[in-house]
Amino acid sequence: MLRRSLLLALCLPVVTAVSARDLDVAGAPIRPAKPDPAIARALDQVSATEIEHTIRTLVAFHTRSTLSSMEKDLPSGQGINAAADWIEAELKRYSAECGGCLEVKRDVFTAPPQNRIPQPTTLTNVYAVLRGSDPAQSKRMYLVTGHYDSRNSDNFDARGEAPGANDDASGVAVSLASAHVLSKLKPAATLVFVAVAGEEQGLVGSRHLAQLAKSAGWQLEGVLNNDIVGGNTTPGERLQDKSVVRVFSEGIPATATPEQAKQLDSLGYASDSPSRELARAIDDVGATYSARFRAQLEFRRDRFLRGGDHTSFNQEGFTAVRFTEWREDFNHQHQNLRTDNGVEYGDLIKFVDFRYVAQVARLNAATLATLAAAPPPPANPQLVTTDLDNNTTLLWEGEAPGAHYEVVWRELTAPQWQRSITVTDRKVTLPISKDNVLWGVRSVDAAGHRSLTVVPAPQLPKR
Ligand SMILES: [Zn+2]
Repeated sequence: MLRRSLLLALCLPVVTAVSARDLDVAGAPIRPAKPDPAIARALDQVSATEIEHTIRTLVAFHTRSTLSSMEKDLPSGQGINAAADWIEAELKRYSAECGGCLEVKRDVFTAPPQNRIPQPTTLTNVYAVLRGSDPAQSKRMYLVTGHYDSRNSDNFDARGEAPGANDDASGVAVSLASAHVLSKLKPAATLVFVAVAGEEQGLVGSRHLAQLAKSAGWQLEGVLNNDIVGGNTTPGERLQDKSVVRVFSEGIPATATPEQAKQLDSLGYASDSPSRELARAIDDVGATYSARFRAQLEFRRDRFLRGGDHTSFNQEGFTAVRFTEWREDFNHQHQNLRTDNGVEYGDLIKFVDFRYVAQVARLNAATLATLAAAPPPPANPQLVTTDLDNNTTLLWEGEAPGAHYEVVWRELTAPQWQRSITVTDRKVTLPISKDNVLWGVRSVDAAGHRSLTVVPAPQLPKR
């Protein structure tokens, strides 16, 4: 006994010195994927000049208040109905350039009187569908949206000036720019480019579209909501960061039952909702296409006191995130145009940086194109947790011809996936303790397009 202890004492320091941590013994650190030349060419076509034209045109409608749709005697060319007509015409123009590749549609409905809607009011969401080129993949869909309605200080003012240049003509410009450049590609999965109304009235337009998507069985794998992505440029603002855009994502899914939420928390899965995996994918794709502009992942559903259209999709059980500039100027949102004590109020075009919006559009378009080109994510991933051991066994299902899989992992405190290993089978056992890391699996095609990562459900002991 004594001899054995002595031996152990002699051996231990040596073993410690040469051994690595188990989570580093397999795979390799994750590097950005190689760019897809066709996607890179499409991103080069995103034009700050065209984005400026979009935002200037939307601002020129004087107001895009959702309530203006019911005003009978607005001067011609003013109000939200005129804006809807222009967005529809613009999408049809892009479609004409690609031989009619876009289906341009309107989702029109009457919202009943509610909190911020005094009378039955017509709302119009405008969108274009680029059908996936692969019949086996075209049911899979990714959607990008911004809200084209605007408001000033008075939510009920249907006629007063409400330029909404940053909030949210900038987001609509991202949807339109994505539609224009991606309609020249032929992604395998379907893309939907959207401008919704009624955001300022309580996410009314996006709620209707999300419910339509659910009832029509849209297989929406991800929704990108762009709201206030103008890169607010206020004289004297020194803390703006034009090299990043914030990406907000929910942790526990909005549709989780209290029981499910408790379980996710107890498993350490509170930061691994599908929406958060979408946010991680945006960061991952961003690193492939730009070293100078990146997604800043914000692990919360939205900013304090504010909401956004991604939440409408989250509430219907869809995966959805929100893009917003680094630092907002609240004097330039929801304000009547005026100068008080030397401070200029109003959401004016002069505070928007079109080149910044173009960067955000490139990140959106790169994400949409990559995820729509990638194979479907693995199905039904499982983490075997039935035995007490220091290994990890993962298994999953799915048919992705020509694709392989990547198992990814990270330390429990790390925000982003750190290491990966390529697997051709649908099962793997690694000598890494499942207690110390979080696991995910994704599909990758021969060109290197990575699918969204899915997190394995633990096989809990049967009760
Ligand atoms: Zn907004």
